[in-house]
Amino acid sequence: MKLTDKAEEILEALWIESEENGKGYAELDRMEIHPSDAAYQELASQALVEIKGGRIYFRPEGKEEGRKTIRRHRLAERLMMDVLNIRGENGDMKACQFEHLLNEGVDVKVCTMLNHPATCPHGKPIPAGECCEEARRIGDLGVVPLTELKSGDEGDIAYILTEDGKKMQKLMAMGVLPGNRITLLQAFPSYIFRVGFSEFAIDSAMAREIFVRR
Ligand SMILES: [Zn+2]
Ligand SMILES: [Zn+2]
Repeated sequence: MKLTDKAEEILEALWIESEENGKGYAELDRMEIHPSDAAYQELASQALVEIKGGRIYFRPEGKEEGRKTIRRHRLAERLMMDVLNIRGENGDMKACQFEHLLNEGVDVKVCTMLNHPATCPHGKPIPAGECCEEARRIGDLGVVPLTELKSGDEGDIAYILTEDGKKMQKLMAMGVLPGNRITLLQAFPSYIFRVGFSEFAIDSAMAREIFVRR
């Protein structure tokens, strides 16, 4: 099924709304769509969404399609940031254009190249694809934030994800640099890790910004 970009954007917005309110629908006035919009008509004619009482709901097939769409969007964001180093608003804008190209198996290639990331640069979950499940099954766990490790686990630092220059310098001074080996020694009440011969303690906000390849 190939939807128009506009229709995909409605599915995405609906996914995000229902992800945030956990209710599986969005209020129509928050979505800024009207039942007579062509993009809405397109989704309704394929039985992907329905409008009832001022709310827009996913139908089961629509939810699956929304899941795939949001997955492509968040993979595109990762690609912009991790590989192409295009950040901030420009990265967000490019990701919105690029995501529409990530269908028919291109998403699998990108996901595999990025090592099946679990979250987008904004920390939102990327719904897993079959490629991710397969990678997990064979024990190739990809890149995860330090907070996902258990005490005693180790891995290689893949990248640091912070917009804050001071934090970045602090981490670099600890030897938290891509390619360095990191061992998590303790996860509570603070994160204590070893890099090289030194041990450091950081809070969970900072630990979430260190991405490790297990
Ligand atoms: Zn995002
Ligand atoms: Zn994957």
